[in-house]
Amino acid sequence: MLDYRRFKEINDLFASGQTEKARHLLMEMQSRCIALRDEMSMLKIRLQSLEDVLYLAQNLFEENGFYWLHTSSVRQGPFCPRCYETEGGLIRLDKRKHGLECPCCRATYEHLPALDAAASSGMKAGAARILHFAR
Ligand SMILES: [Zn+2]
Repeated sequence: MLDYRRFKEINDLFASGQTEKARHLLMEMQSRCIALRDEMSMLKIRLQSLEDVLYLAQNLFEENGFYWLHTSSVRQGPFCPRCYETEGGLIRLDKRKHGLECPCCRATYEHLPALDAAASSGMKAGAARILHFAR
């Protein structure tokens, strides 16, 4: 925590001609500011990770053995169940001639006719997007 009274102390030291003491205290304050900035950056990253986890908890769902994600009004997916369950990665499955394939772990899945209607919003062969989320 930054003690703001220290700034007045520094000012008083300069005013009374104790420049070396003031400079020393100023450097100490600078060091604390840098440490606080680093801590704030780390906390921002942590907050973003938690928001991502919360977003997933609210918008990720399982259907027909695959994972899907609701984003605004669009349904994204299907995502590879193996990658999600082992690494927490959301890997969109590629449509192949005889099924679906994960571009990451290469697992293949039987294509279900029910997926056609559900996946019409955005699943294109070769257009896999990899989204990494912590579980
Ligand atoms: Zn996979």
